This record gives sequence, C-alpha cells and structure tokens, in this order.
Amino acid sequence: MTDRTQKSRKGHAYIVVSTNVQMREKAAYELACSFVCEQGDEFPCLECRSCREVFSGIHPDVAEITRKTDDKGKIKKEILVEQIRQMAADAYVRPQQAERKVYIIKEADLMNIQAQNAALKIFEEPPAYAVFILCSDSEESLLPTVRSRCAVIRVKGEKETEVSSLAEEYITLAAKKNQAELSAFFGKNESIDAERMGAFIESVRICLYNAATGKKNYSGFSKNDAFRLLSLCDRAEEYLRLNVGVKHIVGLFCVLTI
Ligand SMILES: [Zn+2]
Repeated sequence: MTDRTQKSRKGHAYIVVSTNVQMREKAAYELACSFVCEQGDEFPCLECRSCREVFSGIHPDVAEITRKTDDKGKIKKEILVEQIRQMAADAYVRPQQAERKVYIIKEADLMNIQAQNAALKIFEEPPAYAVFILCSDSEESLLPTVRSRCAVIRVKGEKETEVSSLAEEYITLAAKKNQAELSAFFGKNESIDAERMGAFIESVRICLYNAATGKKNYSGFSKNDAFRLLSLCDRAEEYLRLNVGVKHIVGLFCVLTI
C-alpha cells in the first residue's frame, strides 16, 4: 500500500480509483490485508495466512460484492440495493478471525442510486470494526454524498505510468537541446490521442514545476527553460481546449521546445 496517512487514520470507507481493473483490485486486496494481517504492522506482510486468505478470496472476514447473474447466467448490469442491504446487515455480525471486517465492492460505480444510498447509510454509521473498500474507474461516478464519506486512493494505471515516463523523456531531451533527437521523439509519438496528450502536458507540467523549484535536477536544464516550457504548456493546453488537431500540438512542442 502506498498511502501511509490514509491507513494510519484507519478510516471506514475508501474508494480505490483506477481505470485499470486488475491494478485497482490488487490495491483493494492489499488495503484489505492491512486490516486483517496477523503481523499487525502498519503495512501488511502479504505472506501470513490471513493475507494469503484475502488474495485467495477465502478470508472469513473479507467479503466481496460483485454483480449477480440472472437466471439465464447473464451478469446483471448493476449492483442492486438488496446486495448492499445484505452487506449492511452482515456488517453488524462481529468478525470471526480478525479484528476488522472488510467489504470490497468491486465496480462500485455500478451500484445503482438506491444501492448507493443504502451504502451511504452504513458508511455514515458503521460498526467500529467495519471497513468498506469501493473499486471504481473514477470517484466522479459515485454520488457526491458517498464520495464525501470515503478516502480516495488513486492507483496509477499503466497508461499514466507510460505518459509520465514520456514526459520525463521529453524533459531530458529538452535539456540536451538536441533538435534531431527531439524531432525523432515526437515523430515516434505523433499518433498520440487527445486524452493522452492532455495527460502528457499535465505530466510535463509536474516535471517542469519540479525543475523550476529545484526539487529535481535535469542536467543542462535551467529554471528559465522550465518557465519558458511552462508557458508552452499553457499554449498547448489552450489549443487542446480549442480542439486543434493533436498533430499540430505535437508540432508545436517539436518546434518551440529548444
Ligand atoms: Zn499478513
């Protein structure tokens, strides 16, 4: 688990956010482990019997809520209010093995409105030992009232990691002031889509901010370079907002970086 502060606060409800389902579910299991681990440290060992039981889905105090299937074996579109009511009722039964009882709601964004309202009720007055972990693409897909009860844990998806490593590569090339290499870099990435371009600019901005404040040192890159490129980012973002073709924005970066 990456988030010390949220864990040491030992809250009752969490939203684990990532568009990468596998990664967010892994993070949800790790968080669940942190509540039932036999080592009792701040971070779960992921090796004791309890931790292993969580990952095998057999821990008696860790339950998963997923969409049900109908009579024909088809998976339902939503998580229904009855399922959440059942969870709430179960939450009042004390844990058997651990000190806490954990509920992982997979695809929490697929709870319908009634289900979310039922969840809200139990989040507002949970038994002291209960923990609820909601997995979702984004916290925006949940009701604001539900969101406000939960600590948000953002899991970095592959896409974000890829984009931020692109940003690092860009700054490193910008620092080298070698136009040929920079052109090759943008040539290789010219088919980037608008969403990733937006994320790229955001990541570049963080790198530039770190460079400008001395948090990070890119050899050959001055504070002036950082400020100049920050305004280039402003311009690129403005173009993106105005729906200028992404290829033009790539061109802008390619021509104006050095
Ligand atoms: Zn453990």
